[in-house]
Amino acid sequence: MTSSAFDLPPLSPVLQEVAQQAYPLSTLYVVATPIGNVGDITLRAVNVLAMADAVACEDTRNTAHLLTRYGLSKELIAAHEHNEREVADKLITRLRAGQRIALVSDAGTPAVSDPGARIVDAVRAAGLRVMPLPGASAAVSALSASGLVNDRFYFAGFLPTKGKQREAVLQDLLAVRATLVFYEAPHRIVDAVAALATVFGPTRQIVFARELTKLFEELHRCSLSEASAWVAADANREKGEYVILVEGAAADADHDDADAERILGILLAELPLKQAAALAAQITGRKKNALYERALQLKGEA
Ligand code: SAM
Repeated sequence: MTSSAFDLPPLSPVLQEVAQQAYPLSTLYVVATPIGNVGDITLRAVNVLAMADAVACEDTRNTAHLLTRYGLSKELIAAHEHNEREVADKLITRLRAGQRIALVSDAGTPAVSDPGARIVDAVRAAGLRVMPLPGASAAVSALSASGLVNDRFYFAGFLPTKGKQREAVLQDLLAVRATLVFYEAPHRIVDAVAALATVFGPTRQIVFARELTKLFEELHRCSLSEASAWVAADANREKGEYVILVEGAAADADHDDADAERILGILLAELPLKQAAALAAQITGRKKNALYERALQLKGEA
């Protein structure tokens, strides 16, 4: 039996209830949209999009296409990284005139590694109401299906594209015990995974959450030592959208290791390898030889 053979649930009472809820005027609605699957939108979001006087969006073509799928057609206002402040002024004028404006990004939750925060900031500063409409976000979706057991997560977003800056950011995260959450572009996945393994070492777990909610969705968990091989095993893995999760630093003894690595990383950025290892040994009280070996690994010379 295919899923389409099921009877649809009787949605109409709840649809009516949602339609009758309060949707205040003069409000900016920050609306989460699907990260792939068109079905991943809330009933309330559809209502707001249907009743909004205009939709401010990252890319008008993408949003027009999405709205069409829900049978909607709306005035669209381009609101991207480069014009947020000036768009905010226009939206504020319209909100003051009593309109409802929806703010969306191309996919997922606006203002999460996406434009929107500056508009929200300006609208709030103008004393107007901002209402979040929760929904899909790639980071939370990946976390929920990762099986990494940790009460905390640290959302690191996109890593810098340049190798040195990327390593510096990762060094700063070395001692973080929360699960680390990264967004990454497919053409940088190989470099990013190599950098993660270099900085965090071989043993931590990594979870690849690729193409979530889409046809070729993949969730794969392995140790960082196996991560590059997993990406290389299928050419398609250099395509598609990725969330990468990395197990947080372990507590206790391992935490001291993480601290020693962080210190070593900072010194290595400034000093020759031998001197960095010797100083790190003095500061941390750890063995010079072990730190020297680790420094070689970090520099890719081992
Ligand atoms: N605002 C969005 C959110 O709430 O998740 C994120 C926007 S950010 C510009 C786009 C990045 O999110 C992608 O490069 C990828 O890292 C991640 N992403 C978005 N959709 C995804 C999906 N379906 N599967 C895996 N990662 C996804």
